[in-house]
Amino acid sequence: MEGEMARIGLVAHDDKKDDLCRWAEAHRDKLARHQLWGTGTTGSRVMEATGLEVGLLKSGPLGGDQQLGAMICEGRLDVLVFFIDPLSAQPHDVDVKALTRLATLYDVPLANNKSTADAVLAAI
Ligand code: PGA
Repeated sequence: MEGEMARIGLVAHDDKKDDLCRWAEAHRDKLARHQLWGTGTTGSRVMEATGLEVGLLKSGPLGGDQQLGAMICEGRLDVLVFFIDPLSAQPHDVDVKALTRLATLYDVPLANNKSTADAVLAAI
């Protein structure tokens, strides 16, 4: 996949949205070469922070995580950057689990924190 346009999903839980926006700003030039998709709030925040175009799905708790899961199982997503908050309970925990499960099942690179996201982006 190196050098090719990748379809990248972006999701961050509320306490991690600032981290994801900082990460996206730091990698703006590289991300501009790829196609970005995001859950509603995360995607809007990344667009504001970077000026990059992000395809907006539903908000995560309203089905956006499941939309990303559907993209994975239909072969329409190459990378998932999902900054999970390990310190807060999520009302849509079942959706979070379903999304990470599908990324694992379909062998889609899944970055749950900044270090892994750096490594995955460096590899594409
Ligand atoms: P959000 O969804 O980007 O719409 O806040 C993220 C999530 O799944 O919590």
